Amino acid sequence: MAEHSKIEWTDATWNPVRGCTKISPGCAHCYAERFAERFRGVGGHPFEQGFDLRLVPSKLEEPLRWRTPKRIFVNSMSDLFHVDVPEDYIASVADVMVRAHWHTYQVLTKRSERMLDLLSNRLRFAAAKRNIWWGVSVEDKKYGVPRIEHLQAAPAANRFLSIEPLLHDLGTINLAGIHWVIVGGESGIGARRMKREWVVAIRKQCREYGIPFFFKQWGGVHKSKAGRVLDGRTYDEMPELQNPAIEIVQIAAL
Ligand code: SF4
Repeated sequence: MAEHSKIEWTDATWNPVRGCTKISPGCAHCYAERFAERFRGVGGHPFEQGFDLRLVPSKLEEPLRWRTPKRIFVNSMSDLFHVDVPEDYIASVADVMVRAHWHTYQVLTKRSERMLDLLSNRLRFAAAKRNIWWGVSVEDKKYGVPRIEHLQAAPAANRFLSIEPLLHDLGTINLAGIHWVIVGGESGIGARRMKREWVVAIRKQCREYGIPFFFKQWGGVHKSKAGRVLDGRTYDEMPELQNPAIEIVQIAAL
């Protein structure tokens, strides 16, 4: 959808699906819904239908047209594994990610059971690709933590967690097989507060497992004021570059 993104941990967003429905407490103040509903009924706008879920086949091949390697957040305005997205369509999205292999893709879902099921079967051809990152959202113990187990069970080459909005202390979590952890607080009107000790506990566990830790933001009603400094510094850790195509471009540029 956008060749450039303001999201701290990605370069661009790509939305071959638009719209979604809420599934757990992390969705309560969904940014995508808030944004989309502002344009409901605005003729010709991409979100003329508000946040109603729909496929956008005209966007499917967009990454193939972007020649410069990017980190691409897939479906920032939806959830690829939503029950209303047909399996054939999900396979088409995965096919583009495999074909446009010079990019790194970040696929994030709250529908982790369906992702596990498809990565184990229909999407096997994409599951182990090194340029595709498969991730789950984790907001609390009840709904979020079980998604980690689904992700760990998936035959994915790269797995990441987006622990945002962090709503409660997660306690001890099993991070085996996880390659990247992003943590952030909720932002915008009605934002629920995130406590420092919850964040520090996750950072400590990432250190124990040797997992890169990315602290996105404190959040709050004015997220730019709250910033993203934790204990006097920012944490922008990311996994090693694993896309051979990007490595080749970088070496060629030396
Ligand atoms: S799953 Fe994501 S996109 Fe869908 S409603 Fe929840 S927060 Fe919004």
